[in-house]
Amino acid sequence: MELWFSEYQSKNVKFSLRIKNMLYSIKTPYQSLSVFENEDMGMVMTLDDVVQLTTKDEFIYHEMISHVPLFTHKSPKKVLVIGGGDGGTVREILKHPVKEVHLVEIDEQVVEASKKFFPTLSSGFSDPRTKIFFEDGIEFVKMNAGYDVIIIDSTDPLGPAVGLFSKDFYENVFNALNEDGIMVAQTESPFFYGEFLKRVSSDISSLFKYTSIYTAVIPTYPGAYWTFTLGSKTIEPASIDFEAIPGIDTKYYSREIHKGCFALPPFVKKAISN
Ligand code: SAM
Repeated sequence: MELWFSEYQSKNVKFSLRIKNMLYSIKTPYQSLSVFENEDMGMVMTLDDVVQLTTKDEFIYHEMISHVPLFTHKSPKKVLVIGGGDGGTVREILKHPVKEVHLVEIDEQVVEASKKFFPTLSSGFSDPRTKIFFEDGIEFVKMNAGYDVIIIDSTDPLGPAVGLFSKDFYENVFNALNEDGIMVAQTESPFFYGEFLKRVSSDISSLFKYTSIYTAVIPTYPGAYWTFTLGSKTIEPASIDFEAIPGIDTKYYSREIHKGCFALPPFVKKAISN
């Protein structure tokens, strides 16, 4: 008998992956966590029946959420990741000459599952520059500061992640950043969450001098087309010297992608306009 995993990408759209091997399924204090194998997409991690990553396409999300803000900043030394317990974002950040990476993940079981089943993602956890805090990111940013870049690599705005999309939280993120600091958040699908994107980008732009939305194609996320919203205190990300971006080992991100990812299709511009 065939076993399938299905996710509601919206109330009326379902996305399915055939389960070749179910490897892990637990209830953590925060969410249900599963790991299975799919013949085409590789290893898959889900939280509360929502795909977090597949080993086939995770590089797109993790490269884009990391390298766009880090290369915009130019010399980030101290970086904070909120969420991101799978380790993919930390792995990408460590390709830069940063001094410290702090990862604040609410659910220790996500980190443990990644160490066990996703060695290519969790490789950065043992790097001496990485420090992991098992805490709520909402509280953490109220008590800590001095970051050059803060990356909000969260689950969807449900359960413990709801507060990671609030204006109060963005204000605390602003205060936790240095004078030339940059934040970026994953901000969902413009197909299904246009109204949400409008609210979040308006909250971020009420705090930061520059707010830019950029996009990437991520096959296993709703709509297969994803947005990230970047807030910057002093540097306009679309006006940096793209030629100065050094080549690094990536599969999706490149100088040309950095230049082009801020170009929004008219339907996205319309969704966020007043
Ligand atoms: N790339 C993913 C996506 O968009 O589907 C996100 C991946 S990462 C696994 C998201 C992490 O955020 C989860 O491990 C979850 O436990 C964590 N998280 C949710 N709310 C949090 C909070 N308030 N503080 C810290 N981490 C949180």
